[in-house]
Amino acid sequence: MSRSFEYVCPTCGARIERPFRVPSVARTCDNGCPFGHFLRTGLLERVEEVPEEARPDDWAERDAEERLHVAVREGIVTPTDLR
Ligand SMILES: [Zn+2]
Repeated sequence: MSRSFEYVCPTCGARIERPFRVPSVARTCDNGCPFGHFLRTGLLERVEEVPEEARPDDWAERDAEERLHVAVREGIVTPTDLR
C-alpha cells in the first residue's frame, strides 16, 4: 500500500503528489511560478480562511510558508494540523 499526499502551488494551483506528509514542500513550479512552497492541500484551504483584517499589508507578496505562519498565529491552523 502506498500513500501519497497532495501539495498545491499557491500561485497557480498546480498539484503534485509526494509519498510523505509535511506542511509544505519547497520547489519550483513547473508552470514557471516564482520559487516558493507548495502547501499540503488541506492547509492551503485553511490559509485562505485568514480574515482580511488579520492579513499583513503585503499578504499577496508573502510566500506560502509565511502565510502559513500567519494562519498558525491566528489560530486557524493548529500545531496538530502541521503534523
Ligand atoms: Zn505554480
